[in-house]
Amino acid sequence: MAEQPLVERFNLRSRLRFNIESGQIWLDENRMLLMHAKAFGALRQELFESLGPKRAKGLLFRMGFAAGQHDADLAQKLYGEGDNFDVFKIGPELHAFEGLVRSTIIEAKIDWEEGSFFGTVNCDNSWEAESHLQLFGVSTEPACWNLAGYASGYVTRFFKRVIIFRETQCVCCGASSCMLEGRPLEAWGDEDFLQHCLPPENQETSFEQLQEELWQLRGRQREQTPPGKLVGSSPAFSAAFSLLSKAANSPITVLLLGETGVGKEVFARWLHENSDRADKPFIAVNCAAIPNDLIESELFGVQKGAYTGAQASRPGKFERADGGTLFLDELGELSPAAQVKLLRVLQTGEVERLGDDKLRKVNVRLVAATNVNLQQAIADGRFRADLYYRLATYPLEIPPLRQRKSDIPVLAAVLTEKYAPLYHKTIQGISDLAMQGLMAYDWPGNVRELENLVERAVLLVPSGGQIEVQHLFPGMAPVTAKGAVIDREGKVGNAAEAKKDQLYETLLVDGFDLQAHEARLLQLAVARAHGNLTHAARLLGITRRQLAYRVKQSLGEGVTPSDA
Ligand SMILES: [Zn+2]
Repeated sequence: MAEQPLVERFNLRSRLRFNIESGQIWLDENRMLLMHAKAFGALRQELFESLGPKRAKGLLFRMGFAAGQHDADLAQKLYGEGDNFDVFKIGPELHAFEGLVRSTIIEAKIDWEEGSFFGTVNCDNSWEAESHLQLFGVSTEPACWNLAGYASGYVTRFFKRVIIFRETQCVCCGASSCMLEGRPLEAWGDEDFLQHCLPPENQETSFEQLQEELWQLRGRQREQTPPGKLVGSSPAFSAAFSLLSKAANSPITVLLLGETGVGKEVFARWLHENSDRADKPFIAVNCAAIPNDLIESELFGVQKGAYTGAQASRPGKFERADGGTLFLDELGELSPAAQVKLLRVLQTGEVERLGDDKLRKVNVRLVAATNVNLQQAIADGRFRADLYYRLATYPLEIPPLRQRKSDIPVLAAVLTEKYAPLYHKTIQGISDLAMQGLMAYDWPGNVRELENLVERAVLLVPSGGQIEVQHLFPGMAPVTAKGAVIDREGKVGNAAEAKKDQLYETLLVDGFDLQAHEARLLQLAVARAHGNLTHAARLLGITRRQLAYRVKQSLGEGVTPSDA
């Protein structure tokens, strides 16, 4: 029996989805592009002409490298825990599947334990050689930089050691096929060649200068993320952030408004850290978390003997925040008595501890926050109007996450980076499909909810892998990319058909026996119809007469299902 191609064995076709309605093509959770080879070829040509051959080759190589790494992840996912070499062999098939080249492994001397590698791959129908020949003519050196990059990225990811493939012969130079040779990075010993394979940060500074110039050309700031932990650059976020930064260097009381989870404390902390009080304390109090009868002593302090149980004098949060910033979260929950006291402190700048008549001068910048509608609370008699006007000198509404969705990719990346080391994981980012899920969600719990989701995903994702839909939304029914699949001949069909094909293919793998399978199907149908042949025949899509005959044939004589 001829060996089944691995892409068939893992039914890769069912993971390739054409969703014409939504304008998307998916390979598993990665979004793919069906591009005109001619258009890509033209871009390639322009890269050579504008950047020079050296940089262009590097770019093409690294682009291929990235693609190879993604496919290595996919191969590993398909295979799970399997024979390394088998998984490794999927690479050339994936590359063929994506239409770039037909590669055949000619030689592979691999020692997984020792980490030694030597491999040669023969490449036919390289799109890149075709394009290069058309646009540049016969060349004196090999041209398949993108392909070499792919092979390098794929093997590097697998081998967990940098393996570089280099083209030793190319159709562009007149050879009958292209040939790639792969070795560990150190084994090449050709500095000049390796130089332009490496990512830009490893190259001489001129590349950075070029990048700098490009940024300036676009009239953008390279540094788009504001300092501190505040992350975002969407219009809604930028507007709020601009208001925030204007207030930073003044003593003005800021009232932060917004839904739960939008990050009020992070805003308050940023305000503190970017004010002239940054070297003084930042004290945060969640008013809702402290019982009503304790809130006053918490905020304003207590004198020994003020009440039974007050065995020692201690300062309140106001005194502790002296010189710095006091952040009062969930201010709407403050008791009426505490509201009166707070107003007095704000008016006089003096604190009176419970059970004490001494007034203590405090210099505190107050930042308050609430997610309740204070105006409504005033109307309901739950909040003092005079206190509200004291606090609301500089109200600042923090937008909910659903109004700043364009910040989600950068927020998710920052959060992944934050949690990965805590769970000792290296993570290859977030899959395109998972990102689409994040963008489509409405985020009632805002940034905090996103943070929780990312943390859980980091916990669930296998180290070295990429965060997928199942890691972000584990409770949900399995989500796969929607769309049509292609069949063995390359025709676009539907997913249900492909699933059936998959079933039949599985059946055919070892020792198939048509009669045995037919008998089993008949038995199942008759059992499901509780022995009623008419019903069973309907289940099987045949007439009762045909069924009766087949049952007799396959189950043998002596078996007479009851017929109601
Ligand atoms: Zn070539």
